[in-house]
Amino acid sequence: MIPKSIIKALVGSGKSRVLIQLPEGLKAKSLEIADELRENGLEPVVSGDVCFGACDLKFLKGATTLHIGHSKMVDASNVIYWEYPYSQSLAPAAEKALPLLGRRVGLFTTVQHLGKIREAREFLESHGKEVLTAAGRATREYQLLGCDAAGAISLKGKVDSFLYIGGGRFHPLAIAYYTNEPVVAADPFSLKVETIPPGKLQKEKALRQTKAMGAQGFGIVVSTKPGQENWGLAGKLKGKLEAAGKRALLIYMENITPDLLLPYAVDAFIITACPRIVIDDWKNYKRPVLLPDEASFLLKP
Ligand code: SF4
Repeated sequence: MIPKSIIKALVGSGKSRVLIQLPEGLKAKSLEIADELRENGLEPVVSGDVCFGACDLKFLKGATTLHIGHSKMVDASNVIYWEYPYSQSLAPAAEKALPLLGRRVGLFTTVQHLGKIREAREFLESHGKEVLTAAGRATREYQLLGCDAAGAISLKGKVDSFLYIGGGRFHPLAIAYYTNEPVVAADPFSLKVETIPPGKLQKEKALRQTKAMGAQGFGIVVSTKPGQENWGLAGKLKGKLEAAGKRALLIYMENITPDLLLPYAVDAFIITACPRIVIDDWKNYKRPVLLPDEASFLLKP
């Protein structure tokens, strides 16, 4: 059921049309959400495009966007966020992960599970663990985004392992990539638990850099998505590459996929958009893809 505060905000926006944006896992709820909006005198339309995160806002002329399943990331008028909190208990996932954890645990989850994360904390503490957490640049305590692991990074060296409770693969990979500490990922629905050992993602990073070593021509990819578009970074990279005697082509696109990057006659790509494209998906690209920081070795004299 849509919270009353959200309905009130939508009705109060003065626009009867509502563009509903949902992540893939919630798209099955579209019809029931649309029915409820109609019952409140609103005219719902569902965005059929993939929605990767809070960075990925869609707009429809004359409509308010109802962005579901993520917390606010981008300042935009005409957008109302519904975080869509889950009621699933997180203690069973913490119990499954328990044997894999060290004594000091850095605990993180996604916004939808924040309301239940203290259950996991209490379970861990009652089993002898010391639990730490932190907020990120744009996130609350316990909350993690794949592109905002600042909370976890601030705990590097202070914990023996990280525990991520939530769905999806990228969040725990981001912790492992940015901290190089052991990460345990526990899915609260399937209760599947996986460990990402330290060093794994750093080896992959080194491999990407080795592959890009002799590259002379670069595609610098900028995303059209409002929360990912970063012209400042792309411009700096272009200037530095050119100063190092390399060629650079700015490529502006919405969904960055291996097929869409195929036609460009460059040796490697630097992705200024979502880090998932590189950290999780790099093996699917025919030519090396690098994060901006990973490209810095190319610029050294
Ligand atoms: S940039 Fe990537 S990690 Fe960050 S919110 Fe968007 S989809 Fe998620």
